[in-house]
Amino acid sequence: APEPDGVRLVVDGLTRRYGKYRAVDDVSFTIRRGEVFGLVGESGSGKTTVARTIAGLPAGSGSGTVRLENSRPRGVQMVFQQPDATLNPSQRVRTVLARALRTLGGRGTVEDLATRTQVEPALLPARTTDLSGGQKQRIAIARAFAGEPDLVVCDEPVSALDVSVQAGVLELLAEQRERTGTSYLFISHDLAVVGYLADRVGVLYRGRLVEVGPTEAVLSGPHHPYTAALVSATALPDTDRSGTGCRFAARCPHYLGPRCDTEEPELREITPGHTVRCHLPIEDLPTDAEKRS
Ligand code: SF4
Repeated sequence: APEPDGVRLVVDGLTRRYGKYRAVDDVSFTIRRGEVFGLVGESGSGKTTVARTIAGLPAGSGSGTVRLENSRPRGVQMVFQQPDATLNPSQRVRTVLARALRTLGGRGTVEDLATRTQVEPALLPARTTDLSGGQKQRIAIARAFAGEPDLVVCDEPVSALDVSVQAGVLELLAEQRERTGTSYLFISHDLAVVGYLADRVGVLYRGRLVEVGPTEAVLSGPHHPYTAALVSATALPDTDRSGTGCRFAARCPHYLGPRCDTEEPELREITPGHTVRCHLPIEDLPTDAEKRS
């Protein structure tokens, strides 16, 4: 049955540690049915740890909850940056897809699955080692859609591919979402890629969500000083200090003084559905206009 309020995934207060290092700190968000939620941030921001936790893979220890509403068994599938890591090189594409249909409870034949997921029939007899990077990723996506996944976690799915084949793989992901109503958690450091696919986006900085909102609002009119720097590709000082305050304080072009060092800001709603974690008064937050100037 369709979920009454359309919520499919609820992540609540997720914290993950590797030893003493807190990779993810009190992260909360929801993903609706058929929605693509993009998670962006530099390396070390915690986005892969969030992805792995949601996919049920080992990712440190910690607290918080990840709840999938009305999910089927094996309802979460993952598409990785490197399809090689999960494709057996000696297998033929047909075998990979047949096994996925079996283990994920998919309907129909390998040919049906190939048609649904746009795998060229000519590729079915090929061994996965003989495929290009883009073809391998398309097979990994076809495999993820062998059952009817509730959520597909995509961790940098096109980052390792030639730019010339990235668009085709993104289109395939967009079409599969359209066809199935599957939700995506879409992790990428590439804002253009996230802008193409995501309905909403969350910006992670050192394990904390610092801005969440509709993709267009966040990427065209970023309001957190870190998002603004990310979007305008402004080089930031490579300094760091660990305090109890805002994690971005040492690098922030809008640093306000001691309050930023000692008091961590809460996520505040600045317009409906758009939240920002910063002490600046709303009228002083960076804006789109500033970005262009
Ligand atoms: Fe910058 Fe202070 Fe806002 Fe942090 S709280 S982003 S240091 S202005």
